[in-house]
Amino acid sequence: MENADIRKDIPMLDEIIYMDAASTTPTPKPVVDAMCNYYYNYNANIGRGAYRTAVKASSEFEKARSKIAKFINSKPEEIIFTKNTTEAINLVAHGLDFKRGDSVIVPNIEHHSNFLPWLNLKKRGVNLKIVQADKYGVVDAADIEKAVDKTTKLITITHVSNAIGSVQPVYEVGDIAEENDLLYMVDAAQSAGHMELDVKKIKADFTAFPGHKGIMGPVGTGFLYCKADKMNGLQPENLGGGTVFDVTEDDFKLAEGHARFEGGTQNIAGVIGLGTAVDYIKNIGLDRIEKHSQKLTKLMFEGINDVDNTTVYGNPENIYGIVAFNINGANPHDVAKILDELKRICVRSGHHCAIPAIRHTGAYDFGGSVRASIHCYNTKDEVQILSETLAEISQFFG
Ligand code: PLP
Repeated sequence: MENADIRKDIPMLDEIIYMDAASTTPTPKPVVDAMCNYYYNYNANIGRGAYRTAVKASSEFEKARSKIAKFINSKPEEIIFTKNTTEAINLVAHGLDFKRGDSVIVPNIEHHSNFLPWLNLKKRGVNLKIVQADKYGVVDAADIEKAVDKTTKLITITHVSNAIGSVQPVYEVGDIAEENDLLYMVDAAQSAGHMELDVKKIKADFTAFPGHKGIMGPVGTGFLYCKADKMNGLQPENLGGGTVFDVTEDDFKLAEGHARFEGGTQNIAGVIGLGTAVDYIKNIGLDRIEKHSQKLTKLMFEGINDVDNTTVYGNPENIYGIVAFNINGANPHDVAKILDELKRICVRSGHHCAIPAIRHTGAYDFGGSVRASIHCYNTKDEVQILSETLAEISQFFG
């Protein structure tokens, strides 16, 4: 599938230059069509009805689970649907049996969604060991290893930083977790759908995924990969319909596996759409997406770096899909607004829900940074328009 064909499936790209994939990606037509098909033709609840329409809905929902599982090299029973990455991470932080004195290792460049759920555990007497990234926003696996001691229960790390674009050594950290018999969680919010991601190779016990970012699924979708042997060690918080095996007036017995976490009516259309999004991404090919994004990321970094009076964050050799920068002396929100006004370029600005990371880069004093983030639908021309427009804006502030 060529870039031009992908763009045909996303009509809004005719009007704007969309460079905010790190927040959410546009949803291609086949994904929207799959959701419409559910609503038009078999809109029933799942896992409940015996009538054929309900059985069809359940079967399509479970087909999506199987496709998603295969996509990350796991089993369907290891997939728990959530509404986003944040919910998937919270499910683990709340669900594990932490004891007073246990500790969690977490880098200082995480998105708040992979920081606050762990910071909050302090209330339960759990200590955080915060590992500092280098000046390019990269965590050294050796520093993580040094932080391990007998109190450590879990290591958590993002695959790609949303604030800087830096790629983290998730494979090396997986080895460290395995050697030390620790639980291991990966936040794949910025890598899923952007690059090959095999949860078995990463050796993660838990990996949190958005449906609505790199995989190009609908908003309101996400999932947690939970290794089969860890599933029953997690306690669900969201109890109700679908989560139990048996109930008496005194007690209840939880359902086995992912069902215990999927309480209440699910985002059925969203999950079916997500299954189609996985097909869509596979059809383009993750290796092609990766090559394309690597090339564009490099061009984008160089183009912005060449603009006078800018500060660009991260190491161009180790960032992926994201370039964060500032025009010196300009507020990042003003730059983002002007990019939109001049050329309808959509970028994010501010702290990117990662205030510790923004402090770490030094961008805090600017009020954060401007962040351009790309995917398979972006083009070389768009990247060039971005740097040309920034050059105009820079002259204004210079
Ligand atoms: N983790 C990272 C690295 C992110 O970039 C984001 C969102 O941008 C999240 C977690 C939260 O994702 P979601 O909005 O799907 O909950």
